[in-house]
Amino acid sequence: MNKQDILVIHGEDGKKMARRLCEEAALSSLIGDRGAAIGIKPNLVSAYPAEMGGTTHPEVVEGIVEYLLAEGFGNITIMEGSWVGDETKEAFRVCGYESLAERYPVRLLDTKTEKAFTADCAGMRLQLCNCVRDVNFLINVPVMKGHCQTRMTCALKNMKGLIPDREKRRFHTMGLHKPIAHLSVGIRQDFILVDGICGDLEFEDGGNPVVMNRMFAGRDPVLVDAFCCSLMGIDVADVPYITLAQSLGTGCADISKANVRRLNRAGADIPVMRTGKALRLSEKTQEVESCSACYGYLIPALARLEEEGLLEKLTEKVCIGQGFRGQTGELGVGDCTSCFRHFLEGCPPLETQMYEFLKKYIEETEMRI
Ligand code: SF4
Repeated sequence: MNKQDILVIHGEDGKKMARRLCEEAALSSLIGDRGAAIGIKPNLVSAYPAEMGGTTHPEVVEGIVEYLLAEGFGNITIMEGSWVGDETKEAFRVCGYESLAERYPVRLLDTKTEKAFTADCAGMRLQLCNCVRDVNFLINVPVMKGHCQTRMTCALKNMKGLIPDREKRRFHTMGLHKPIAHLSVGIRQDFILVDGICGDLEFEDGGNPVVMNRMFAGRDPVLVDAFCCSLMGIDVADVPYITLAQSLGTGCADISKANVRRLNRAGADIPVMRTGKALRLSEKTQEVESCSACYGYLIPALARLEEEGLLEKLTEKVCIGQGFRGQTGELGVGDCTSCFRHFLEGCPPLETQMYEFLKKYIEETEMRI
């Protein structure tokens, strides 16, 4: 498989589809040494089953593991660190990875427990978990899905699970796009197999799964993300980290250069369109450098208020993010807004807490009028 190749497969059996993609890509010859330490990086952003649209289906990883074992590879580690505020161990259990590790000779590594080292990533010094340098071959298994801050997330952004939580927070203070691009230089992805079975096209942690029954594989994370954008009807220019990663030499963002091969269905892939709901709800927020988890909880909380007809009564914007530390204001969520007149404690506060806090604020404001 060459760097410009993208293999696409449709179907409903994630395990079989993953195996077929590995076979068609001749993954074993890409890895080479049977004793190689292989890392598999799924997306377990939070402890919700893959059917919700935010996490990698365990059967997809199972298909890869079965392929690797059959080809004689035995040193396999599934590595992940959920987003800030969530426990990876719980995600391993809820998402079916604990059970996977009981049935196959693979290790589970919670990167939140890992020590880190500093790496020069094309002029930006970033903290990476030690497992990054311990593996010889990294297989990235992201979910094709939306993201309320960066519009979409797939191969490049999934590497955030291999940095410590404190570094995840710092990424947001640096504007997210730039450090994600630089991270692509620090962590080399050798093979990418995208789970596009039922991603949520709006929210990173799922809740509104869209069944697409599609998976695709590639070797260039920039090209894979650009291809993913085309499937989601997103202009690559609207996701700055993709072209930034290209400018740093990680790969190619021009999908006209991709050699797309469909394994079981001819014709073009029909783009799945986002509803724009996350974008609409974000108009009720004022976000400066907020962590993914914090913002990822706020948007669904606002969606719940909207469903109850309460959101239109919220006249104040909800401030969120590390950029509000030490600042004063009216309404905020998270410890970063602790100097505000009305704020919700937590780092991050959970979705239900945000929903209840904002609902109470709306009701009290109504009573004052
Ligand atoms: S309160 Fe601040 S530091 Fe904590 S998760 Fe939210 S934005 Fe991040």
